Parts: sequence; C-alpha cells; structure tokens
Amino acid sequence: MNEIKELQETNIEKFKDYPLDSSIKRALSELGFKQPLEVQAKVIPMILEGKDLIVKSQTGSGKTAAFAISLCQKIDVELESPQVLVLSPTRELTEQVKQDIYDIGKYKGLKCCALYGKQPMEQQRKELKQNTPHVIVATPGRMMDHILNKNVKLHDIKYLVIDEADEMLIMGFKEQLEAIIKKIPKDRVTLLFSATIPDEVHFLSQEYLRNPENIEIEPQVSNLEKIEQIYYAVDGLKKVDFIKKVIEREHPRKAIMFCNTQEQVTNLFEIFRKWGNFTCAVHGGMDQQMRTEKLTAFKRGEYKMLIATDVAARGLHVQGITHVINYGVPFEHEQYVHRIGRTGRVDQHGIAITMVIPSEMARFHDLETFLGYKIPCKGGHVDRRPKVDSTQKKGRERYKAGNRGQKALVQFNAGRSNSSLKTSDFLAAIRHVNGICNENIGKVDIRESVTNVEIFDGKEDIVIKALKTKKIKGKLYRVKRG
Ligand code: AMP
Repeated sequence: MNEIKELQETNIEKFKDYPLDSSIKRALSELGFKQPLEVQAKVIPMILEGKDLIVKSQTGSGKTAAFAISLCQKIDVELESPQVLVLSPTRELTEQVKQDIYDIGKYKGLKCCALYGKQPMEQQRKELKQNTPHVIVATPGRMMDHILNKNVKLHDIKYLVIDEADEMLIMGFKEQLEAIIKKIPKDRVTLLFSATIPDEVHFLSQEYLRNPENIEIEPQVSNLEKIEQIYYAVDGLKKVDFIKKVIEREHPRKAIMFCNTQEQVTNLFEIFRKWGNFTCAVHGGMDQQMRTEKLTAFKRGEYKMLIATDVAARGLHVQGITHVINYGVPFEHEQYVHRIGRTGRVDQHGIAITMVIPSEMARFHDLETFLGYKIPCKGGHVDRRPKVDSTQKKGRERYKAGNRGQKALVQFNAGRSNSSLKTSDFLAAIRHVNGICNENIGKVDIRESVTNVEIFDGKEDIVIKALKTKKIKGKLYRVKRG
C-alpha cells in the first residue's frame, strides 16, 4: 500500500521502479515497454489499490497493457481457478487481449484463455477444464453459453474488465453483459474501459460499479494530432478508379481500408485482387479460421492492405499502419474515431483519408460537427466540392445562412447552480433522439437554474417527448417549451 502511494506521489516514470513482480518486469522489458504510457501511469496504481474504475481511453492509448500489467500482478498463480474475466466485443480483440495478457504474465506462469463464437464449444470446454486458466477473455455471447452449460467456475472471479464498453453496447450485448455480471461474485473489482462514454455506458457503470474513479485520457488530442486527416469529394461512379489513383499517389506502406458493409469488402477485394496481389480482406461473415489467417498474414506484412468492416478490425493492434482509408463515411461518428485510431499509434504518424460521395456529404458534415473541427478537402482532379442533391443542399444552405425553419426553445430545469451538465451533454442527448439531426439544434444557453436549447423545424415536441423519459448523464430533468 505504501509503495503504491509513493508511486502516485513521486511520479516514477519507469516500469522498473513499479511495485511489480520481477517476472512481469522481465516480460515488459522484452516487449520493449520501458515507461508507462499516460493511461498506464494513471490506471496501474489504482488497480493495484483495488479501486473500481471508469477509464475513458481509446484503443492505441495502451489501455490493454494498463489492466493486463496490474491484473497479472494481482493474480495468485497458485490458485488454479479463473480470477479475472475480461469481456470484449469481438473475436479479434478477444484473441488480441489474451495474447497481450499472456505476453505480460508468461514468466509468472499465468494461464489465459480466449472464448468466442464460431469455434467449437466442446474444444473450449475441454480447455477450461484441463487447463484451468487464471484469466478468461471472452465475447459476451460465448461467455454466457459457457455459463449456461456450467463449463466455467466463477466463484473466484475477483476482477471484471468490461473492455470497449461503448462498442459492446452498440453491438447489442447489453442483456448478455448484465446477465454475466449477475452471475459473478459481487465482491469484486470492476474496470470499465470505453473510448466514449455515452449515456448507456454511464448507466451501466452506475448500476454495476462501486464508487468508481473516473479517469479520462485525452488520446483524441494526442493521437489525432499525429494523424493527418483529409477527405476527397468524389463522384460515386468514379470512386474505385479514384481510390486506385490515391493509393498510387500515397504509396501506403501498410493500410487498412474500411467499408461499411461486408458486400463492399467482397466487391473491393475482387477488384484489388485483379490489380495486384497485395490486398487481403476480412469481414464478420467470413469463417473464423480464415479471418485469423488473413489478419495474421497482414500483421506479418504479407499484405500491404487490409480491406475490412469495422467489426473485423475493431481493436486490432497492427504496428506501423501508415494509412487508414474510409471507403465510405461511417454511420456512427464514434466509429470514425475508432477507425482512424488504427494509425498514428504510440509514436508514429499516420494519414486518414475519407472518400465522400455526394449522398454521404451531409453525414460527413455532421461528423465534422461532432468532431468539432473541419477536415480539409484534398481534391485531386475530381470536384473539390461534390454536387449535393437538392434536399441536402437546401438543408445546408439554410443551415449556413442561419435561415432554418421555425425556431422554438426547449427548456431543461438544469442550470449552472443545480447541475454539472455541459453544452456537449445537452447536444449529445438531443442528437440521440430519433428524427433529430444536427441541423435541428441551435444554441445551448446554460443559465443559473435552467438551460434553453434552440430547436428548429418544428422538432421541439419530438425532443421534449423523448427527453422527458431519457436521462442525461444519469439523471432525469424536467423539460418543457421555453
Ligand atoms: P492498446 O491501447 O491496448 O490498443 O495498445 C496500443 C499499443 O501500444 C499496443 O501495440 C501495445 O503493444 C503498445 N504499448 C502498450 N504499452 C506500451 C508502453 N508502455 N510502451 C510502448 N508501447 C506500448
């Protein structure tokens, strides 16, 4: 305990000075991890102290090692029973986290297993029985299957890690997550990691964490600073030819091209395969073995470009990605941040290129509003600004000219004196209401005891109705016409 306090107070900067077993230090040294990254410096002492944590940090910040190092330290290898459960959204991430934990805990004799779907249950059941792992890393669906089949001992679980919580909720794992949490001992430490903290993640943490400490790492700033973001406005019909030209010009050493659908991945892969044999593809519909093979080959450098859907590439650690190309504008704004975070990792720079066709332009501008900055247009020989269709044009012109439809005020009984809500909290809550887009929202005016938000185009009743029953940052507020 004293050692831990000292660690926080004296701001020690090297792992060799951390209160960790020598076997862990040896592993870290082999991995080339000398100094803790920011998330590790903040998180490790707290986990060692036994605190519940909500950590807002992105992939690429070093968060996996942050919990892996601490939990490897905490595990009692003599106790032949699972002590740590890590829940993560995808099979790839599950494998990745298992590998990271293994790499850090191997000299301590730590055993770790990964459980995910599309692999035989029986094989996993045998592994659980014969190998008795200290750490289980699992996707929620498969974990639940093993719990229901009584394949796994849960009574010694002392640490639960909910990794990429926002993504798990987007993927619809909420019920399974809750069901699993109810099955493991209450007397445990819970660590929640998430790149974004939308309301749903906030509720989850309120429900299942005990007096958690909130840790916020600002990787968006530091990571994004290392990523040059550009977009090309491109005609839909010329997109493939255009992208080939961009690739020829950019000459990426290692790139991931993200598509919004599996079909796009398949089609593009066919086209690129004819162009040269430097591309591989993965998507959620592919056989697991094939996915793993392709990802491993890509990591080893056998291919220069990976074409993938978000699910398949989520949380992937591949060193040295020089370019991320968004073949289409992602549907979720957060997804853009996740995608481009594949490059610019740790100490490298990267380029993120987004192809925007006319029908995606409005979504792209919404994304810029969400990010809070403009992404420069790097038009080559294509139109710098594409023609927008007439409905989008009407919307944007009205928006720019400040000439939106009728304005109304929606008032919340939350102001400076009685809440800690910020402008972004109101905007996030209203943006999530079905039928509302950024252009319907105007100024947010936070006053002493109330906040007024301008709502345009007659959408105020929709906002009022939705937010009467929807909490903002965990709390319900009275909402009415202002
Ligand atoms: P993550 O945020 O878990 O996706 O990790 C991002 C990358 O950072 C991984 O490739 C790790 O191998 C690497 N990494 C984690 N901790 C350190 C460290 N202390 N020093 C150098 N690299 C690190």
